[in-house]
Amino acid sequence: MSQTHGRGGREQPVVAIDGPAGAGKSTAARRLAEHLGFVLVDTGALYRGVALSAQEAGVDWDDGVALGRLAESLDFAFHIAEDGTPSLRIAGVDREADIRSPAIARGASDVSRHPEVRAALLGLQRRLGAEGGVVLEGRDIGTVVFPDADVKVFLTASSQERARRRVNDLISRGQHPVFAAILEGIEARDAQDMSREAAPLKPALDAILLETDHMSLDQVVERLAEIVRNSSGA
Ligand code: C5P
Repeated sequence: MSQTHGRGGREQPVVAIDGPAGAGKSTAARRLAEHLGFVLVDTGALYRGVALSAQEAGVDWDDGVALGRLAESLDFAFHIAEDGTPSLRIAGVDREADIRSPAIARGASDVSRHPEVRAALLGLQRRLGAEGGVVLEGRDIGTVVFPDADVKVFLTASSQERARRRVNDLISRGQHPVFAAILEGIEARDAQDMSREAAPLKPALDAILLETDHMSLDQVVERLAEIVRNSSGA
């Protein structure tokens, strides 16, 4: 006998994980998806893909109409490596390394302000999650993309803590980041993401807030798994 979940009538739940830059969403969402055997959809990668493609096509990050047209024409796919690592492909080409630079992060925040871009990516995000058995991470999954998600979590941490984590991450990759510059970048991106008119970053009214300042990654993943278990009645 199959059991259907939540408001979408899906057989498997849709798990929405939203939150600001550097809250540990990507790693936690990936580990959670692995743990549950669910598909992971990193929606930020799509906005990064639009910013990168615009840069290469000479489309201004301020030109909403042209960006919307460009976003509609892009052929996005996620390739999952054997070890579970997802990478974004655009027109069949792996662009994962190119979308992870600080410049493209800022570009993603710029292009994502435009309703035309958000509208162009909405259908794709919904299709990727339609079957359920999926963890989607982003900024507006629980509010706009899947307002009927079975599980909604808003993952956050103070900007100081998020900057500290980012600095440690960069040091472990052999880079020499300046804390103040990283903090400034995070706060600038938060301010832009929270103040935009189209789908601003904010917790859904029915989201569970998870403040991770004093939690290890393992604890975050454990807590997320517990939230999913509780909400699916398993
Ligand atoms: O999560 P990530 O850092 O890759 O996201 C890059 C940018 O894409 C964010 O700063 C945000 O402006 C935008 N974004 C968004 N809605 C999403 C996911 C990302 O606006 N669902």
